[in-house]
Amino acid sequence: TQVRDVSARAQAISGRLVLLVLRDVTEQERLEQMRRDFVANTSHELKTPVGAVSLLAEAVESAADEPDRVRDFAQRLRAEAERLAGLITRIMSLSQLQSDQPVQMHDVGIDELVDAAVGAQRLPAAAAGVELVRGAHSGAFVRGDAQELGEAIDNLIANAVAYSPAGSHVGIGVKVEHGVVEIAVADQGIGIAEDDQERIFERFYRADQARSRRTGGTGLGLAIVKHAVQRHGGEVRLWSRPGQGSTFTIRLPEAPAPEPNRPGKHRGK
Ligand code: ADP
Repeated sequence: TQVRDVSARAQAISGRLVLLVLRDVTEQERLEQMRRDFVANTSHELKTPVGAVSLLAEAVESAADEPDRVRDFAQRLRAEAERLAGLITRIMSLSQLQSDQPVQMHDVGIDELVDAAVGAQRLPAAAAGVELVRGAHSGAFVRGDAQELGEAIDNLIANAVAYSPAGSHVGIGVKVEHGVVEIAVADQGIGIAEDDQERIFERFYRADQARSRRTGGTGLGLAIVKHAVQRHGGEVRLWSRPGQGSTFTIRLPEAPAPEPNRPGKHRGK
C-alpha cells in the first residue's frame, strides 16, 4: 500500500504541476493579449493629434501671406503638439506601471506627497475658479515609490478640478484607520453615472465624450492611478453621483515611520 500511496501522491503532484504550468501559459497569453491591445489602442489614439498637427502645418503653409492666420494656426499647432507630448508621457507612465518591474520601495511620507500634488494643481485650479481645500496632516507613512504615488494623487486632483464648475471646492484629506492610509479627493463636480463608474478606470475610456473632450483629457489618468495603487498593494474606491460630485479614495497599507523619526534612535549616540 505504501508504494501505491507514493505513486498516487506523485501522480497528484504531477497533475498539479501540469495545471500550474497550464495556468502560467494562460496568464502569459493574457498578458500578451493585453500588450497587443495596448499597442493597438495607443496607436489609434495617437493618430488623431498627429493628424491635427499635419493639417495645421498645411494650413500654416497655405496662409503664408496672412500673418494673423499664420499666428493663429501656429498657436493651435503648438497646443496640439503639447497635447501630443502629454499623451506620450502618460502612455509611457502606464506602460512602465504595467511592466513586470517591481516597485522601488522607500519610506514615503504621505503628507509631503499630498502637499506637492496640491501645490502642482494650484494654478490650474485658480484658472478654473476651483478652490483646493487641504485637510489636516496625518503624519502617516507608506512603503513605495514616491514618484508613482505622487502622480496618482496628482491625477485625481487634476481630474477633480477638470470636472468641476467654477466656484466649487475640492477637498483633499488624509486619514489613517486600522492600518490603512486613506487619501481622499472629493469634488462637487459633474459626477459619474453608475454605469461608467467601473469603466472609467480602463485606459482610454472617457464618460460623456462631449464634456470630456473639452477638458482635453487622454482617458489614461485613472488607469495610471489604478495600476500605481495596485502595485503598492492598495486599492482605489469611488463614490459618485451625477450632478453632485465624486470622491476618489486611494487606500494603502500604512508603514511604520522610518527609523530617524523614532524616539530613542540616537540614544547613547
Ligand atoms: P481623462 O484624461 O479623460 O480625464 P481619466 O482616465 O483621468 O481620463 O478619466 C476617465 C474619465 O472618467 C474622464 O474622461 C471622465 O469622464 C471621468 N472622470 C474622472 N474623474 C472625474 C471626476 N472627478 N468627476 C467626474 N468625472 C470624472
